[in-house]
Amino acid sequence: MHLVSRTAQVQTFFCDLPAFRFRQIEEALFDVKKRSFSDVSTLPLVVRQKLDEKISWLVVHPAHILESVKKDTFKAIVKLSDDKRVETVLMRNARGQWTVCVSAQVGCAMACTFCATGKMGFSRNLTSDEIVDQYRLWRIFLHDHPEREGRISNIVFMGMGEPLANYDNVKEALRQILTYTDIGPTHITVSTVGLLPMLRTILEDQTWPPVRLAVSLHSADSETRKAMMPSSFDGFLDELAEWTNAYFLVFDSRRRHLTFEYVMLADINDTKEHAEKLIRFARRVGKARINLIPYNFTGSVYRDSSARQFDRFEEMLRSAGVNVTRRRTMGDDIAAACGQLIVVKKNSL
Ligand code: SAH
Repeated sequence: MHLVSRTAQVQTFFCDLPAFRFRQIEEALFDVKKRSFSDVSTLPLVVRQKLDEKISWLVVHPAHILESVKKDTFKAIVKLSDDKRVETVLMRNARGQWTVCVSAQVGCAMACTFCATGKMGFSRNLTSDEIVDQYRLWRIFLHDHPEREGRISNIVFMGMGEPLANYDNVKEALRQILTYTDIGPTHITVSTVGLLPMLRTILEDQTWPPVRLAVSLHSADSETRKAMMPSSFDGFLDELAEWTNAYFLVFDSRRRHLTFEYVMLADINDTKEHAEKLIRFARRVGKARINLIPYNFTGSVYRDSSARQFDRFEEMLRSAGVNVTRRRTMGDDIAAACGQLIVVKKNSL
């Protein structure tokens, strides 16, 4: 099945539609009070009717929505037009607003050994509409439940899949979100396994927006990283350090934040030796921040670091002058936490 974007479909059906009409259509899709093309009163009636007949207002359909016990995290399993499924998460953030976590692919080809999505294998890229509609779905959800106060202030590309392996569609989704919502680029984070060719493309791509980037480092020891992440290779850490320094040269680091994610796995990457290696790596890449992530159980062979070891590791980094933060885990009771997203139902792939 060939998935055509809404804009391309509109172009096919209305080859003589003026450009401002496209803008009106895109704008209307982000107006939470509108629920179908017939609500878009700025468009001529015939156009509205034809759009309603031919084009889906939403291309993701929630099959289940789960709520965490603390009521601060929701996970939706959404069905796509070809019956495949992905997951998207809504969580209350530290500022009392909401963060949406979107998926970029059905499954993932990166096969990180600690990640549930990695076990699914790769099925296909999501279209830009399928990415954007995960956000639109949660906006409608919050609008229809006014008791859940607060707006969506942040979006993270940390759901299923590797966003930079779906570069063009992720970029188009970012363009729409930045054009039609009140969410600014510093409130959006794209997380990547560290696809160096695409990271280098970002340095040269004038049209890549100034969103935040997070690179999944997870170990500053090459052998350990290769064992955790099959996409890694000898020399990766050197190339990443080089890229990071180029990134800070090309972009003003006050505007372009860069984070290295580090999932804490007991006896794998949380020892004193690993902390020392991470400190050395952090010194090579100056202004980057290290974000320590508690491991969320995914049925893998790994165990999470003990609270004591986690604190010790964090303290070692901090006292060495490394800019280090810790991620809160949310929604693990509904398998909505980082790395827990997997769709195993029959026909899901
Ligand atoms: N493909 C992207 C997005 C993955 S999900 C990437 O690799 O960055 C976002 C973050 O969650 C990544 O840093 C990922 O490595 C991490 N993650 C995966 N499985 C996890 C788990 N079980 N517990 C905690 N974090 C996990």
